[in-house]
Amino acid sequence: MDNELAELLAAVRAGRPRAIGRVISLVENRSPQLPALAQALAPDTGRAHVIGLTGAPGVGKSTTTAVLVGALREQGRRVGVLAVDPSSPFSGGALLGDRVRMQAHALDPGVYIRSMATRGHLGGLAVAAPQALRVLDAAGFDVVLVETVGVGQSEIEVAALADTTLVLLAPGMGDGVQAAKAGILEIGDIFVVNKSDREGAQALIRELRGMVALGDREPKAWKPPIVATVAHRREGIAELLDRIELFRAAQETSGGWTARRLARARQEVEGLVLARLQVELALDPAADLETLAQAVSRGELDAYTAADRLRRAR
Ligand code: GDP
Repeated sequence: MDNELAELLAAVRAGRPRAIGRVISLVENRSPQLPALAQALAPDTGRAHVIGLTGAPGVGKSTTTAVLVGALREQGRRVGVLAVDPSSPFSGGALLGDRVRMQAHALDPGVYIRSMATRGHLGGLAVAAPQALRVLDAAGFDVVLVETVGVGQSEIEVAALADTTLVLLAPGMGDGVQAAKAGILEIGDIFVVNKSDREGAQALIRELRGMVALGDREPKAWKPPIVATVAHRREGIAELLDRIELFRAAQETSGGWTARRLARARQEVEGLVLARLQVELALDPAADLETLAQAVSRGELDAYTAADRLRRAR
């Protein structure tokens, strides 16, 4: 490894924001230096508690993220924030620049905030986000909050990255829990009913409680609690942090903590392999995916034979 890279990594380990930003940009741009960087940073990873926040736009994710940052700072913890926007090709803070709530933390050296856009990336969120998380982890943040800015499948993908997943809901956002995206109830470790100052909050909590009880198949498994919050007034935030700690303790006792991290590592490696294959298929003229695809679409060839030929071509 050259000196410049070694210096950059030392600065990341020391938690210097500019260095962290540069390395995350290398991740986004799929720099050829990434394997060396990842290898060097690996021993410094595995310490951060990754907390994912997901939910429909407008439920209060960014407000909640900002107040969580404040509350965690009061506990003396260093906090990284990764805001992932799968719908945008623009990265590097432009998104967060106009998020006034975060500006309170902009000058705090114990806080690092970064947005990341994954549209148009091969492998998308699945490849870039885990590596960005590892950089923040190596930079020594005790907690990393991962928030999705856009909509779509990303919510489920973010849950796969996190040690703890918070699913946010709010009253007045359509038809209650039924309106929440399919799959979202399964991924919640803790449910947050935000905007509980609004009408309909109690009904939403009741409905949610019913659905959580229905999904509770294993009697000993963690039963996701429901926390009512009014994010912009910081109401319920202390309770939310307590629940997060309780969940962590329960996961550590049950072995769920390690199991989830193992699953995450598995996905991370698989994601890299798949992304590499995609690159090869797209770039390698010998593979000739295009010709095979035309034959398959005309019914001249079946997809299995085409796949075999493609693999033999490597
Ligand atoms: P996001 O799209 O999920 O990130 O939602 P935001 O955090 O941007 O919040 C959407 C809007 O709801 C903003 O205008 C917030 O000020 C407002 N908001 C957030 N939390 C609450 C809350 O607990 N109660 C009320 N009444 N409004 C809130």
